Amino acid sequence: MANPLYDTLFGQHLGKTTPFLELADGAIISHSDYLERAAQYAHVFTQLGLKPGDRVAVQIGKSPQALAVYAACVQSGLVFLPLNTAYTPDEVSYFVENSGARVILCDAKRSEELEPIAEATGAVLETMNNDGSGSFALQAEVMPSTFSTVDRSEDDLAAFLYTSGTTGRSKGAMLTQGNLLSNCQALTREWQFTSDDILLHALPIFHTHGLFVATNISLLAGSKIIFMPKFDLDVIIDRMPSATTMMGVPTFYTRLLEDARFTKELAKGMRLFVSGSAPLLAETHVQFEDRTGHRILERYGMTETNMNTSNPYVGERRAGTVGFPLPGIEIKITDSDSGATLPQGEIGEIEVRGPNVFKGYWQMPEKTAEELREDGFFITGDLGQIDDDGYLHIVGRNKDLIISGGYNIYPKEIELILDDEEGVLESAVIGVPHPDFGETVVGVLVAEAGAELDLEAIKKSVGTSLARFKQPQKLVVLPELPRNTMGKVQKKELRDDYKDLFA
Ligand code: ATP
Ligand code: MG
Repeated sequence: MANPLYDTLFGQHLGKTTPFLELADGAIISHSDYLERAAQYAHVFTQLGLKPGDRVAVQIGKSPQALAVYAACVQSGLVFLPLNTAYTPDEVSYFVENSGARVILCDAKRSEELEPIAEATGAVLETMNNDGSGSFALQAEVMPSTFSTVDRSEDDLAAFLYTSGTTGRSKGAMLTQGNLLSNCQALTREWQFTSDDILLHALPIFHTHGLFVATNISLLAGSKIIFMPKFDLDVIIDRMPSATTMMGVPTFYTRLLEDARFTKELAKGMRLFVSGSAPLLAETHVQFEDRTGHRILERYGMTETNMNTSNPYVGERRAGTVGFPLPGIEIKITDSDSGATLPQGEIGEIEVRGPNVFKGYWQMPEKTAEELREDGFFITGDLGQIDDDGYLHIVGRNKDLIISGGYNIYPKEIELILDDEEGVLESAVIGVPHPDFGETVVGVLVAEAGAELDLEAIKKSVGTSLARFKQPQKLVVLPELPRNTMGKVQKKELRDDYKDLFA
């Protein structure tokens, strides 16, 4: 028997002193250091009485030890459930209760707040601090550094990842070994990762991007990771000359571009910059190429499916698109009401099928049935369009679609026009309740540094390029758009803030 995910990502490195993580102080953690620690952790889980299939909820800082908890869960057949460190005790309580986690691993600073949750649910509370210390490490210290890997199959669950909660309450996506494995195999090949690569890793590891994309690819390919606790511009600029690749959310790239130290020379040893989790502005794409000669590779994915599409590594990386389906993955564009496939070029629901697609939402059979078709297609909730050359364009989320006076209005179309206006850095277009039209359009603008926006002039100019029913009835200016840690604009928040504008 075997454990496909463990054997392929981790087990291949057992006993090897090759570098896996390079830390801020220059210390190197080799593959074998990492796997020995993971084995000790697996023993602790066993001693705590956990059985394969049990859930382990972790809300801890980004550290090599936190990554070893992931490996330990895979090796002992447990379901790894990482949680955003920003979640409040009330939120954690929902995740622990919903998932039925048997262990909660948290920073000692939070143990007092989380203890009542552990008591109420019967979970065991253990601590792990940012430096790896805590009650969990104390038990691990005396454990053997090898562990007999628990048998699993590709259909067994490896992780529960909760969605970001952008459109409603976070849902626990059940991901199997096969989901995770197939996806990192496809990405490693497509993006040509090898053991010569050195990845700048500044993403959080509680989300699919930093965990299952960045970490799994590096493990599979045997690449080294420059492991940073968070995105720190000075550190990124300092370390870039030693790296070959970087994965980031769009804000990483806009922040790099704002810094004069970020030059072609600085990026000359880099072979690949990947962006995802939120739309990259076409303008950022162009500016980045002008500055560095590199074209950012944008890809599209989500908690439920890992990555679905990617711009090509070799070939044209088209700004404003998320490229083509990854090998083995099918994408179709369908009519929201009937589910029928739409003619090429039309806007509709993006549906995806492939070995990457999750098994459903944990304990939400109705939600699962609504979004996961019997034939295996997952209705993503994103709207898109495939162009003549097969590139997928994301137009926005279904839930952000504005219906005004019976007409469908796609916010992205209006945002692209607003973004081009004099002095506008970026925009978010939302629908708010309106007594006559049901909903109407509001444009939220952010000005470029030092620019004064002339709202009347912008309104007039937009009037020449958009049909009347699409024109924003109101423009408002904010210092910045509300975003979560993954750089996703929180339109729900904006809709709440402006819901009474026309009431
Ligand atoms: P929830 O499902 O709880 O509302 P969420 O969808 O934001 O939250 P995630 O799974 O973290 O949670 O994010 C996936 C979503 O991120 C996608 O459905 C898509 O809307 C967006 N996304 C990811 N990559 C891109 C991209 N390259 N361009 C545009 N949007 C993207
Ligand atoms: Mg989602």
